Amino acid sequence: MTQSSDVIVIGAGIAGASVAAELAADLSVTVLEMEDRPGFHSTGRSAATWIPGYGPDPVRALTRASGDFLKNPHDDFCATAITSPRGEMLLGLPGQDADVDNYRKVGMHDISLEDAVKRVPLLRTDAIEAVLYDGTCLDVDVDALHQAFLRRLKQRGGHVHCDSPATAISRRAGNWHVTAKGGTFEAPVLVNASGAWGDQVAELAGAQRVGLQPKRRSVAVIPPPPGADIDNWPVTASAGETFYFKPQSGMLLVSPADITPVDPHDAWADDMAIAEAIDQLMQYMDIEVTRVDHTWGGLRTFAPDGNPVVGFDPVLEGFFWLTGQGGYGIQTSPALSRTAAALIAGHDMPADIAEHGVTAEPLSPARFVR
Ligand SMILES: Cc1cc2nc3c(=O)[nH]c(=O)nc-3n(C[C@H](O)[C@H](O)[C@H](O)COP(=O)(O)OP(=O)(O)OC[C@H]3O[C@@H](n4cnc5c(N)ncnc54)[C@H](O)[C@@H]3O)c2cc1C
Repeated sequence: MTQSSDVIVIGAGIAGASVAAELAADLSVTVLEMEDRPGFHSTGRSAATWIPGYGPDPVRALTRASGDFLKNPHDDFCATAITSPRGEMLLGLPGQDADVDNYRKVGMHDISLEDAVKRVPLLRTDAIEAVLYDGTCLDVDVDALHQAFLRRLKQRGGHVHCDSPATAISRRAGNWHVTAKGGTFEAPVLVNASGAWGDQVAELAGAQRVGLQPKRRSVAVIPPPPGADIDNWPVTASAGETFYFKPQSGMLLVSPADITPVDPHDAWADDMAIAEAIDQLMQYMDIEVTRVDHTWGGLRTFAPDGNPVVGFDPVLEGFFWLTGQGGYGIQTSPALSRTAAALIAGHDMPADIAEHGVTAEPLSPARFVR
């Protein structure tokens, strides 16, 4: 039997969960997720940070517009804190002057090498040419945030069907018809929140691809250096984004910040890239890494211009894109989901989001689909 609703959302990662929760305030919403649980892909594999100076202009505007929501969640959304202070420190390594200048322009400020060593005592400063700092960067409890969106969706009467990959999508008589393992579903509006699979799902529906490119990023978790109190270390990265590290649950998370183009898949870490990251870590820190506790890989999916793709497809009626969040999908999710819900309902951009400089044009799929 076909199940009808106002909106079908494909994908129950942070994008699908957050927009579905928002839409469910006024509409009936069905979410289809191909895995047996939400958050299995990119959402469950992030570095869990909110970094206001990261990404292109539209992304930074969305990140700023999401800040209050993440810092002060309403009790009816999440009773526990979603974020905690972390701070971010960028190391200007030889050849990274232009990167350092770019980060100065978006509000990061210079600190002395002595100050840098106070923040991360094991830092080797001999090859470091500049250090920038931003104390506003936060850790995000991604699971708490994602579960709160899913809970809100449920409270508002929405449904998530897991183990339900959308395998056929067609438009008939003003409705989208989606065949999934869990049954058939119909709705006038279909939201494509399928992350790395965004172009594949679009093609299944008969839409033109926008050129989404999943890029693998690897992460290793290593024990903290003996005797070091790492809990308050900031996220520390090279300004050229060649590696970064941050404390996480008493361990040290290290990433080569790899950006390897791949097809959508269940990603795993690139061992060679991890080895290079550890090599850089030992070059710039007084650390001897003898053991890796565990590793993982995840996909960051980008449109050709690096901005998210959010809006109705200009050709296919009722087909809405919510993809291309790159490395910013967690930190932008509150503002991006409200932006998407407003566009779907035909409302103006919410005033508190517009105030931060968010506009629909740089996000629109019309920049790729004609
Ligand atoms: C190592 C790493 C570090 C990161 N660090 C950060 C960070 O610090 N801060 C930040 O903001 N972001 C970060 N990101 C990026 C962030 O994780 C992503 O932008 C975000 O999770 C994307 O969410 P999503 O819901 O679009 O994708 P996903 O979480 O991948 O969700 C898409 C869902 O769609 C489902 N799906 C696909 N096809 C179908 C189909 N045919 N039918 C049904 N379901 C389907 C998939 O199973 C999946 O669950 C990081 C990413 C990585 C990999």
